[in-house]
Amino acid sequence: MNNFHYERVTDVDTAVAAATGAGNSYLGGGTNLIDLWKYDLAHPEKLVDLNGIDELKEVTELPDGGLRLGALVTNNKTAYHPTVQERYPLLSRTILAGATPQIRNAATNGGNLLQRTRCYYFYDAASPCNKRVPGSGCPAREGHNRLHAILGHSEACIATMPSDMCVALAALEATVRVRGPQGERHIPFADFHRLPGEKPELDNTLGEDELILSIDLPARGFADHHTYLKLRDRHSYAFAVVSVALGYELDGEGKITTARIALGGVAHKPWRVPAAEELLVGQAPSEDQFARAADALLEGASGFKHNTFKIDLAHRAIIRAGAMAHDPSCQRPGAKPSL
Ligand code: SF4
Repeated sequence: MNNFHYERVTDVDTAVAAATGAGNSYLGGGTNLIDLWKYDLAHPEKLVDLNGIDELKEVTELPDGGLRLGALVTNNKTAYHPTVQERYPLLSRTILAGATPQIRNAATNGGNLLQRTRCYYFYDAASPCNKRVPGSGCPAREGHNRLHAILGHSEACIATMPSDMCVALAALEATVRVRGPQGERHIPFADFHRLPGEKPELDNTLGEDELILSIDLPARGFADHHTYLKLRDRHSYAFAVVSVALGYELDGEGKITTARIALGGVAHKPWRVPAAEELLVGQAPSEDQFARAADALLEGASGFKHNTFKIDLAHRAIIRAGAMAHDPSCQRPGAKPSL
């Protein structure tokens, strides 16, 4: 019998106060938490149910032209929100590439950022795993590692982050607004998730007891030239082997003025290399230019027994994504985009 306390709250301050303390956990959609609980990997002593907090269920325009996505807005409501579809189609497309409609109807934006790796050994309580039990070892290094990292991995952990949505949020340079016992702060998306290093048990930089309030999008949405290319083992309900969120803006002469590329399925966090994006600025989109950017993005990549193929796959995916972004109308499966 797993006894736990349950508290339903209706405002943020009460939620933060109620969750403060070891063993307490916030409950949003619960789509990953309940999984972890069933697998005997999570043992909350107290659940603070956030679903009565209406202010976290809103999508609102920001004075700087950006858009605020409440932490409790579901993934599906976000993807189908008219403003997201019109101004941030990259985000809409990326969310709809993940999970299933049933899961997206329950999963929240805040929870999407906090979902844990899908490494098989992490979910097997009988296996050692440094992320689950620090210092116990990483069987994935010598075991099944097809879906594991090729960039940013460490001796301690080679897991990848499973979210699709977060790959687009990285490319869009979103900000995560959080509140904890010490007050409110804003975390740039690039700093929200972390590489495993020697502390793979930490997935992100969220402070203890801090609550995600919203994800704030800047005004720039790359609506004219964007794509999310997700390569996976089956067409639906599968995590990315490699994914690419890519957007750029062009000047009147067809030269790139701003570019963003984020990779999913390759690291412990969405993988961005701003210097690779800078290589594209001032250039007309072409296969050669995206190949140069891909070289820079994948510099230092190294694989393991079952996933080294992902280095070449990611390289080719970046080039293809560059072509797809040039004409977002030709992104249906089987289309042959060209530059
Ligand atoms: Fe655990 Fe990370 Fe190793 Fe997977 S890759 S077994 S999550 S330490």
